[in-house]
Amino acid sequence: MTANELPWLATWLPLMLRSQRGHALLLHGPAAAGQFELALAMAQAWLCEAAQADATACGRCEACTLCRAHTHPDLRVLVPEAMAATLGWEPPAEPDSDSGKSKPSKDIRVEALRAAIEFAQQTSSRGRAQVVLIHPAERMNAVSANALLKVLEEPPGRARFILCTAAPDRLLPTLRSRCQLVPMPSVPRDLALTWLSEQGVPSPEVLLDAAGGLPLVALEWHHRGLRPETWVRLPRALAAGDVQAVSGWPVPVLIDAMSRCCEDAMRLAVGGSPRYFPAEAWRGLQPRLPPLLVWQAELKRVARHDEHPWHAALMCDALVSSASRALHCTA
Ligand SMILES: [Zn+2]
Repeated sequence: MTANELPWLATWLPLMLRSQRGHALLLHGPAAAGQFELALAMAQAWLCEAAQADATACGRCEACTLCRAHTHPDLRVLVPEAMAATLGWEPPAEPDSDSGKSKPSKDIRVEALRAAIEFAQQTSSRGRAQVVLIHPAERMNAVSANALLKVLEEPPGRARFILCTAAPDRLLPTLRSRCQLVPMPSVPRDLALTWLSEQGVPSPEVLLDAAGGLPLVALEWHHRGLRPETWVRLPRALAAGDVQAVSGWPVPVLIDAMSRCCEDAMRLAVGGSPRYFPAEAWRGLQPRLPPLLVWQAELKRVARHDEHPWHAALMCDALVSSASRALHCTA
């Protein structure tokens, strides 16, 4: 996705460009709120050689063309190898590294960060700025974060840094305090629903609510094959211990869906309204808090090991049993 394909970014971008101060920004918000796309659009605006009156990029000049082709000499984008394909941003090949042989790294490599810091200290090739974009910033290890901290303390002339994160509390406090914190605005619901319909998502309101109002997440779930009717049926299927309803779901996906289910059940148990599932999904169920607390604790415990090579089928059975215990006694 590019900023042009996300209509809400067009509204945010001029506001963001106007309100930004200083040489380092930290865009923070839920994962997949569009930080990466927004950060790229901001970088392009700073590098554009014919920026428009509202400070956004023209989209036509040579700098814009280079940005789109990922070859602008004054732009460095650091993303973990494991995320590059999803983000549509493949890192340049590193002939000396062993990355070709090993599993793609889930972290931002220290060498890549060091190279970017060196890049920021050189003279800008096209004379506008030098932009270093780091996404997601919590994927830097302590060595990288400390190296970056030094540069942010004494920023080189025209260098600008944009860090994106879904977990600002996992960054060094000193790193956070060197950046201007910019929260991601929430996407207006009507805009998100129209956009999801245009992407071919059926009953977009169901998946948008399921995704907590994040349209990019809703679209990803649609592409992964989640059907709205499956989602609506989930609380009752879990209460009934129906393993078939979630067969083939990867364990982390199942844990995430169950956590949303558990959270909604807790809201209902204390007299609130569900957030992730429509009210009809809860018909016939009367959640009670004590078993839900046990379930919630178990989900948290299992989620902490979500990189573990689970025996997926066994794990799925165990998770559905727990879900059923927590929800069924309420039916
Ligand atoms: Zn331009």
